[in-house]
Amino acid sequence: MSTSTPPYRGRFAPSPTGPLHLGSLLAALASWLDARAGGGQWLVRIEDLDPPRVVPGASDAMLRTLEAAGLCWDESVWYQSARTEAYDEALHQLAGTGTLYSCRCSRREIADSALTGIEGPVYPGTCRARPADLAAAFALRVGTSATPIAFTDRLCGVIAHCLERDTGDFVVRRADGIAAYQLAVVVDDAAQGITDIVRGADLLASTTRQIHLQRLLDVPTPRYAHLPVLVDAAGDKLSKQTGARGIGPAEVGPALRQVLALLGLPAPPEDLPPREIPAWAVRHWRIDRIPRGLLRAEESRPVPTPSDQRMP
Ligand code: GLU
Repeated sequence: MSTSTPPYRGRFAPSPTGPLHLGSLLAALASWLDARAGGGQWLVRIEDLDPPRVVPGASDAMLRTLEAAGLCWDESVWYQSARTEAYDEALHQLAGTGTLYSCRCSRREIADSALTGIEGPVYPGTCRARPADLAAAFALRVGTSATPIAFTDRLCGVIAHCLERDTGDFVVRRADGIAAYQLAVVVDDAAQGITDIVRGADLLASTTRQIHLQRLLDVPTPRYAHLPVLVDAAGDKLSKQTGARGIGPAEVGPALRQVLALLGLPAPPEDLPPREIPAWAVRHWRIDRIPRGLLRAEESRPVPTPSDQRMP
């Protein structure tokens, strides 16, 4: 019996909650370089599922910055806001596995009764015996079990979680009817035939929940590489919340050069136009050369984190 490996398909999946900043450029560039170095395709998907968080104009601005940075994508850009039917279909499929249920608990009730897990309170399973009513305005949760879910990350090594203990049953559709990130990302990665995911380590704790859903929905599990988190001078994760500066098309050259240095790549020739920098960098790309530990934006060098056991 012969099994063939599907050709590499990577992606960048930003949430349009503000302009592209150094942290998101790092994820975009690393996933682009990994795809192109592997002779693969690279897709862009805008994760605009949560209307109150979407900033008008942000997705167009991000796409213009990606273009100015020479990060050309294949196929047309997908928008999660146009994918509601696919998420509903997946919810019906999950309901068919008997693992879905409606949850009427308030945030407060959960916080009061829960232990803290790998990402906030662990849902104690209060509503587990309820049926899944897809038409009602209640959240829908998927059941988890005590069996560990493990995967080998290309950068972080073996990661294993026992979801029942580490997150509890988790929300796949919110009470307002919007598909949760964990469900939408799994449905879309499968629908787009994504084989390789390169993204920030802030999503490392989500991956085992996504693998759980992939198994229930009977879709393949991609390979994963979680990049070190970029922090600012104060040691805070670079994000819109901590005031990371947006990168417009005009600032993209210095930003690309800084991000390449952070990723452990050599400096491109001084006179190379920004748009040509990624294509130049492809031949120097080695994912195993990415420094471990946190990356500090201003200093362009890694800061070791002895307490971070996940980074070998
Ligand atoms: N939309 C997510 C974010 O901007 C990324 C999702 C992913 O790469 O899986 O943080």
